Amino acid sequence: MPSEEPLVAAHVLEFPGGYTRTTGPVIGRFLTELRDRRLVGVRTAGGRVLVPPLEYDPDTGEPVTEEYVEVGPAGTVEAWAWVGSPRPGHPLDRPFAWALIRLDGADTALVHAVDAGSRKALRPGLRVRPRWRAATTGHITDIECFLPEVASLVAPVRAEYRVTPGRALTRFLEGVRDGRFVGGRCAECAAVYVPYRVSCPACGSVIEEEVEVADTGTVTTFAINNLPDPRAPEVPFVSAYVLLDGADTPMIALIGGVPAHEVRQGMRVRAVWLPPEERTLSMANVKWFEPTGEPDADLDESAGGAR
Ligand SMILES: [Zn+2]
Repeated sequence: MPSEEPLVAAHVLEFPGGYTRTTGPVIGRFLTELRDRRLVGVRTAGGRVLVPPLEYDPDTGEPVTEEYVEVGPAGTVEAWAWVGSPRPGHPLDRPFAWALIRLDGADTALVHAVDAGSRKALRPGLRVRPRWRAATTGHITDIECFLPEVASLVAPVRAEYRVTPGRALTRFLEGVRDGRFVGGRCAECAAVYVPYRVSCPACGSVIEEEVEVADTGTVTTFAINNLPDPRAPEVPFVSAYVLLDGADTPMIALIGGVPAHEVRQGMRVRAVWLPPEERTLSMANVKWFEPTGEPDADLDESAGGAR
């Protein structure tokens, strides 16, 4: 069986002083344009565009025309060889690909480095664009390498919307910004609704009286949540209806500062406010409610309260 080991022979071809050769008019034009960050090819008698340009059509041996055609700068990768361990003198010091790139408008491909990040990013047809060096001198290395075009973007999935609060909710949120809960008392029912609202949910009367209620209250019902929520400190977290002292309707809130399994109906809690300088016109000003340590309230009594 033939060995699958590749044959390897080390060669160094070096001209320590560098060597100068004249480019001839065709390559000279290509390099001069390159210095100006333009890519040009030359048209053959048959009409094809050679990039990099050659003096003779490789298909027919005929001299090319004197027509230069601007191509690219973007192009398409046709084939490549991955270089996992770049060597001194390579254009990049991280893994890259030597690729055959056919620039837009060209009929032939040129060889250049593609900085694709990973070999998995390479595929036939990959669209690439040159990255130019800051200073160009009229050499093929004026292009540092080619980079894949941006073909996709990571779009964070996040729905952000703003509720335009009505007058009642605005009043309530202004109160919350100032560290107090504002409710409305219905003159007909003598009930206090929190958050503040302009019409009574029970009798439909217009509510004109604003009242401030306490930031302490009693848990009436609660739920232990095991799905993360951006507003909650951790999982599991507890959301609860808290009947604020002085209110007749409970308000939904987070419960914190206590293990989830210790939360219970009747537990006495107090709002934990953000520092005043961090507050906005939103319910986020209330971090959560935490236990006060008081004895549990009798729910029937508190829920029956003012009614
Ligand atoms: Zn009412």
